[in-house]
Amino acid sequence: MPEGDSVWRAAAQLHAALAGHQLTASDFRVPRFATLKLAGWTVDEVVPRGKHLLMRLRSPAEERLTIHSHLKMEGAWQVYPPGGRWRKPGFTARCVLRTATADAVGFSLGILEVVRTADEDSVVGHLGPDLLGPDWDMEEAERRLRAAPEVPIGVALLDQRNLAGIGNIYRCEACFLSGIHPAAPVSDVTDLPAMMATAKQLLEANLGPGRRTTVLNPRGMPVGRMAGRPGYWVYRREHQPCLKCGTPIRHGVLATQAGTEERDIYWCPSCQPPPAGTD
Ligand SMILES: [Zn+2]
Repeated sequence: MPEGDSVWRAAAQLHAALAGHQLTASDFRVPRFATLKLAGWTVDEVVPRGKHLLMRLRSPAEERLTIHSHLKMEGAWQVYPPGGRWRKPGFTARCVLRTATADAVGFSLGILEVVRTADEDSVVGHLGPDLLGPDWDMEEAERRLRAAPEVPIGVALLDQRNLAGIGNIYRCEACFLSGIHPAAPVSDVTDLPAMMATAKQLLEANLGPGRRTTVLNPRGMPVGRMAGRPGYWVYRREHQPCLKCGTPIRHGVLATQAGTEERDIYWCPSCQPPPAGTD
């Protein structure tokens, strides 16, 4: 599952390649939009909204449409020179957009739909404040989190209706850096703004190409270089020593709010004591 920073980078790359350019061809390889042709439309901008991508287009007659996509687990947008050879199998392509200077191809997209730009709220209006958005609103995000004080913080941080942009990696890392067990209820977290600020820092530190080390370990070294992993304190480091205290990192699962899905959590049992009544 991509985090907000991956989506932000994808949007920046697509915006650089497409914005201001007229489409010479479009090919939507999903039944609902298979007959839609956007040749002649101009891409105005590509913006991230949480983990959603919005490509806003304008027709010569000033009609406005938005291509809404979500990468979900496997999705990716890639930009090629015109006619360039794709690096992913053609049968996974869901959307192909061509301009005179670039081909943008969306592969294995979890969501692909086209809506009137005026109706964008119908697809992303449910999202909470966007950690990487220009209108990030910490108070509103805290209000939404506090509205369900009994929910485990690790679940609440992933719920994009509370705040948008955090995926599994950064919820684990933000909980660790805040000294909070992911299963602890929201009501146990006294300083939610500090925790959200930490998550925002982690996301912002990774807006460059490739997700890299975001934090330094206590010796001031990039964590990834020491641990042979891309710079995480706890994520996928089970059984390895905590970089702060040496205690072996633990691994477990935490069910999402609807109880329909379990996601991995990683924590240090001594830096992040479990909430009362749990292991
Ligand atoms: Zn520790």
